[in-house]
Amino acid sequence: MCYARPDNPSVRAAEETLRDLEGGADCALFSSGMAALNAALEGARRACVETTPARVFVAAPTCAYFAVRFRIVEWCASRNLEVVSYDPDVPFSAHGLDPSAEEVREESEAKGRRSGYAGKSLRTALREQRELGRRAMMVWIESPANPEWDHVDIQRAVDAARDCNAFCVCVDATVATPIIMNPLAMGADLVMHSATKYLNGHGDVVAGALVTRVEDETWRCVTHERKLGGATLGAFDAYLLSRGMRTLELRVKRQSATALWLANALKDFIDKVREDSGVEAGVVLYPGLVPGFVKQCKEHDVEDGSTKRTYHGGMMSLCFYDFLGLRSDEKKVRVERLVAFCRTFATSCKIWTCATSLGGFESLIEHRYSVEEPGSMDPFVPFGLLRLSVGLENRRELLEDLKYAFWHALDDMRGRDTVNADSLPKSQEQ
Ligand code: PLP
Repeated sequence: MCYARPDNPSVRAAEETLRDLEGGADCALFSSGMAALNAALEGARRACVETTPARVFVAAPTCAYFAVRFRIVEWCASRNLEVVSYDPDVPFSAHGLDPSAEEVREESEAKGRRSGYAGKSLRTALREQRELGRRAMMVWIESPANPEWDHVDIQRAVDAARDCNAFCVCVDATVATPIIMNPLAMGADLVMHSATKYLNGHGDVVAGALVTRVEDETWRCVTHERKLGGATLGAFDAYLLSRGMRTLELRVKRQSATALWLANALKDFIDKVREDSGVEAGVVLYPGLVPGFVKQCKEHDVEDGSTKRTYHGGMMSLCFYDFLGLRSDEKKVRVERLVAFCRTFATSCKIWTCATSLGGFESLIEHRYSVEEPGSMDPFVPFGLLRLSVGLENRRELLEDLKYAFWHALDDMRGRDTVNADSLPKSQEQ
């Protein structure tokens, strides 16, 4: 006999599938990705404070899904714990984002701002704390990190964490999926997923997951937290999740192949705009274009078994600079125009749906500033960032749709009185 909150056969079946995909010792499903985060933090805290006389803290990256960043800060504050920020080991400029990356850095340093640029790697951050006699109760990693897709070298991060006697390393691998990498095999203690995304893949379930490398005291505290905290997954959602995971490999491989093709095609498109008009419009952010990420990805046999290949996921961003030839020098006006351009871009796509979420079978586009911090003049996320979740549609049609949206949004800008229309790129394609 069992009671469905701590123990349900449909939930267990989905947990076993994910446990095996991640190569872990056990898996626990939750009612959302955020519930999984909370259980990981609370489980590690309980297990850690019992054995650690030192003052403990949480090491968190500057680039991560915004609700996770907020929650870590909020959760630590309520337990009187410090959050120590670090920058993913590969700096922002690795994406070729140089013009604005330097500005971001300078601005961040000048303001000593809450985040955006911590100015130190995980290793430095952990060593500084060790000198003060403190221990990381949790090292939180998200790789690639939503929505700029900075990556962390997980092996090196784990080495740095072990070096400094960190208690628990947890990797949010929502975007990578177990098809692309297995963080537990690289030494992480826990892997976390928003199973709402790729694992489910059909946009009809909200779920979260933790997978553990070993069934230790932390894991006992994590599952205790789920049992008494009550953030369990329902049986039908677990059944839908099992259905989704059956096609995970096929979906991720196809979406990754389309995303890599699109990332290169969009780079060519932006280069062509620059050649034709002299305007530096923006940059494509895609983990598959960053060698440090690619080298961590699992190798898969190609169909005839003769060679191997890696996949890099279906998430990318188009990050537009302040390129609209504005007549005003006022920052607020410039931001408003860039935001208007991005919103028009996102809503004029015909195949890409303008909606929140990612990892489903259909392609989604979203202006992240409008979702995360609308109106802020000091956001974490760049003002001009469009997040793209690549679906299963025809890749050429997806590309044409984005090009159409770009020119359509520019035409819309031409009619606005704060914009110097003569300086805008003109389409050579229409
Ligand atoms: N982690 C990442 C990387 C995410 O993208 C999200 C949601 O978008 C979450 C965690 C939170 O997951 P959920 O919405 O399932 O609670």
